Amino acid sequence: MTKQHRITLLPGDGIGPEIIAVAVEVLEAIAQKHELKFSFTEALIGGAAIDATGEPLPEETLTACRHSDAVLLAAIGGYKWDNLPRHQRPETGLLGMRAGLGLFANLRPATILPQLINASSLKPEVVAGVDIMVVRELTGGIYFGQPRGVFTTETGEQRGVNTMAYSVSEIDRIAKVGFETAQKRSGKLCSVDKANVLDVSQLWRDRVTAMAENYRNVELSHLYVDNAVMQLVRAPKQFDTIVTGNLFGDILSDAAAMLTGSIGMLPSASLGEAGMPGVYEPVHGSAPDIAGQDQANPLAQVLSAAMMLRYSLNEPDAATEIETAVNRVLDQGYRTGDIMSPGMKAIGCKEMGQVLLAALSE
Ligand code: NAD
Repeated sequence: MTKQHRITLLPGDGIGPEIIAVAVEVLEAIAQKHELKFSFTEALIGGAAIDATGEPLPEETLTACRHSDAVLLAAIGGYKWDNLPRHQRPETGLLGMRAGLGLFANLRPATILPQLINASSLKPEVVAGVDIMVVRELTGGIYFGQPRGVFTTETGEQRGVNTMAYSVSEIDRIAKVGFETAQKRSGKLCSVDKANVLDVSQLWRDRVTAMAENYRNVELSHLYVDNAVMQLVRAPKQFDTIVTGNLFGDILSDAAAMLTGSIGMLPSASLGEAGMPGVYEPVHGSAPDIAGQDQANPLAQVLSAAMMLRYSLNEPDAATEIETAVNRVLDQGYRTGDIMSPGMKAIGCKEMGQVLLAALSE
């Protein structure tokens, strides 16, 4: 029987419409092969929404997202909207969507593809085979804790304050995502904190350790964040799944991403409570410098669609098939400008879509 999945598409700005068009073609091709049916609803976000409605996240967009099984987002932002007041900026739309859908878990894979190993700034023998998933808490910790602000002390000096706070329920729900993600991968989970200095981190470590009792098939380890960053650049292959708080995850996921050296290849997922749709998007921005020129690399968007199939739509075979097709076109030497190297075949965004479709039908 044909399975139905409702997907909200948010092309956004810049290269967004170009790369999401490729992902949709790929999804339609995979639907035919796997007896799936996708119903796509396109909605406005970011600068495109500001131009059409005056606000970066129209209510209809949030409603469309809430009524779907998953959301595929491209990217938002651009020079045109950079000087608007904060509440009207494209980024405010993104933050509003994360809050509106309760997206508390951010999953960012960093996988080294053998064909692109020279794009990394680290030695090939250090990064060959790296396949890491960083699970970052997204709606708590120091970015949201109270009190926050810049205050004037009794002596008249200004003092800036942010508060790192996590409740047990916040720790438990992100740790659960960490353990379950590790189970879907190689079964190794590293929890990163700063428990030697921070009380909030000690609570984090105690809870994660206690939860390990429920996940006996996951091998749990703990690292302090400073050591974790060192290990990530020294010997990244020791990591499989990393779970950590908002601030540490922000830094670690960018460091892990840079092991791969190619921003146009990196997908991500943001997940909320059960019943809420996950949002899948490339890690990169809207690349206004190359927008509309058929130069964008659509592979991070296509790999985001594969993550959507795996994590929200429970279609792991279809996800793997897309990932295999991406590998195949890279094996065949096709490259967009951002990942080009001598001897390879330079192609544009649309042609990358065509060779992907050919690879899927092989
Ligand atoms: P960016 O990721 O858009 O671009 C950085 C560089 O990488 C540029 O040279 C760009 O051409 C290149 N690049 C990025 N993606 C590419 C792709 N798929 N193929 C080929 N080249 C690619 O980051 P930026 O320049 O700092 O930001 C541009 C805009 O994007 C800003 O308005 C920023 O706020 C926004 N932004 C949005 C998101 C998001 O939507 N989640 C994330 C980051 C930045």
